[in-house]
Amino acid sequence: MAESKKDYYDILGVNKTASADEIKSAYRRLAKKYHPDLNKDDKNAAEKFKEVNEAYEVLGDEKKRSNYDQFGNAEGQPNFGDFFSGKNGGGFGGFGQDFGGFGDLFGDIFSAFGGRSSKTIERGDDIEIQLNLSFEEAVFGVEKDIIVSKIEKCLSCKGTGAKDGKEYNQCTTCRGTGRVRYTQQTFFGTTIQDGPCKDCNGTGKIIKEKCSNCSGKGYKKVLKTIKVKIPAGIDDGQTITMRGEGNSPIREGVNGDLRIYIKVSPHKVLVRKGNDLYLELYIPFTTAILGGKINIPTLSGQYPLEIKELTQSGTIMRLKGKGVKYLNKNLYGDLIVTVKVELPKSLDKKSKDLIESFEKINSEKSYSKYKSYLDKINKN
Ligand SMILES: [Zn+2]
Ligand SMILES: [Zn+2]
Repeated sequence: MAESKKDYYDILGVNKTASADEIKSAYRRLAKKYHPDLNKDDKNAAEKFKEVNEAYEVLGDEKKRSNYDQFGNAEGQPNFGDFFSGKNGGGFGGFGQDFGGFGDLFGDIFSAFGGRSSKTIERGDDIEIQLNLSFEEAVFGVEKDIIVSKIEKCLSCKGTGAKDGKEYNQCTTCRGTGRVRYTQQTFFGTTIQDGPCKDCNGTGKIIKEKCSNCSGKGYKKVLKTIKVKIPAGIDDGQTITMRGEGNSPIREGVNGDLRIYIKVSPHKVLVRKGNDLYLELYIPFTTAILGGKINIPTLSGQYPLEIKELTQSGTIMRLKGKGVKYLNKNLYGDLIVTVKVELPKSLDKKSKDLIESFEKINSEKSYSKYKSYLDKINKN
């Protein structure tokens, strides 16, 4: 989280009850005002621009805004950000997050200028991968090395595409800015438009000798091993986002994100629902009658579950705290055991005789539910 927390509403200059349209138009006005392209030498403007974007990323999204109103952060859960922000540390600290996902809006802003800028802050593509975890890895947490194929800026030429990062000339057409202005006659009169320079493809550079490491592209596809810390308690279908671990953009800009979709293998007998574990336990009818101990699997090893004398089929036992850890909390779910009584598949003569003598000495009075049923249907 940001150190000195500024109020996002203050940053955008709107009040807390502002409508989505009001927020959007306040954002557009301020983003235009502080846009780096229009304030080239003003460091404060860049800072303001970042702030405005950060505020809009939250307030411009209905869900994040309601989380922010309620919890003071966009995630809607205290401390949830720590695990999910990757290398940059705090949730809002990462550069990637500040500018993430604004492509469309910038398009909007610049069409309002009368020309679409391609020198908006470019962002590399996100990378999405699936990570398979065993039941135990998900429950206890694990550190995994994953290998990702990604586009990275070429280090030999610092992304310039030119040998040693030096063998290029500034493009004379655009004087190295990568952009040219031209006038156009429109309905409203003469307008000045701003667009990418065709002579240098918007790079501002004419390469004299190509970098051999990247064949002049300025970027390379590499295999990178990334350490991922999986927090204890993660569940099937959840996602971990590592800010800035995605692809580098082709030109200057910020990296995309790495999104890791978690797939968890089921346990042999335990079924996980949220943070609780469920076990359907079949026991011999003799154990249900006489009582006994049955070993059941728990996350901390085998546990001798006590079956009381005369345990009915369908009895539910809740073992507090023997479930799965909650993400980033020192709190555990429960293990819920449903006892099901199982009858033998066949009976030999001796067993049958024994049961018959049992039946003779136990009248229907021994069975309260059965007796009440008989009473009801025999009443009329
Ligand atoms: Zn290179
Ligand atoms: Zn040029």
